[in-house]
Amino acid sequence: MTNAASATPGTSAPPCLVRWGDQALRRRCRAVAPGDPELMALVAGMWRLMLGRNGVGLAAPQVGDGRRVIVIRDPRRGGRPERLVLVNPVIEQRDPVRQSREEGCLSFPGLYLRLARPRAIVVGYEDGAGQPQRFAAEGFLACIVQHEVDHLDGVVFIDHLSAWRRRLLWWRLWRLAAR
Ligand SMILES: [Zn+2]
Repeated sequence: MTNAASATPGTSAPPCLVRWGDQALRRRCRAVAPGDPELMALVAGMWRLMLGRNGVGLAAPQVGDGRRVIVIRDPRRGGRPERLVLVNPVIEQRDPVRQSREEGCLSFPGLYLRLARPRAIVVGYEDGAGQPQRFAAEGFLACIVQHEVDHLDGVVFIDHLSAWRRRLLWWRLWRLAAR
């Protein structure tokens, strides 16, 4: 997920970004096995790609990987980004009250959509060391977590649009997929 329209080019050589039109974005990811020896390499590559493009969240399918891993730059920490690595995340509670906010996605460059999602959630997950963790989030962080967990189930943000809103975008989506 992206914060604002100003993505900056990466300075290192991160893994390739998977964009809309690639079937990798539609597959359901598998759980990360305990002690997966390649997990840290995946996470490091995801961080490089996300930070290089000024993103605030990235899911493994966006780098072509089928494991249930997301990385998030916690927006609650002011100028000092807090790095969150969520392995096998599960949204355990959702606030019935919904809040709409503008979202972008690194896999849909230049496309920003106003979507309504539950305004607060509780997410359970394993950290990079395999320890179970849980936190409650609201506002922007809750939005990022929901957006990224969707990716692990092959769901992308345009899937939350009504049929007619999506029809209005068909040309832009076609152009994105054709690049
Ligand atoms: Zn996304």
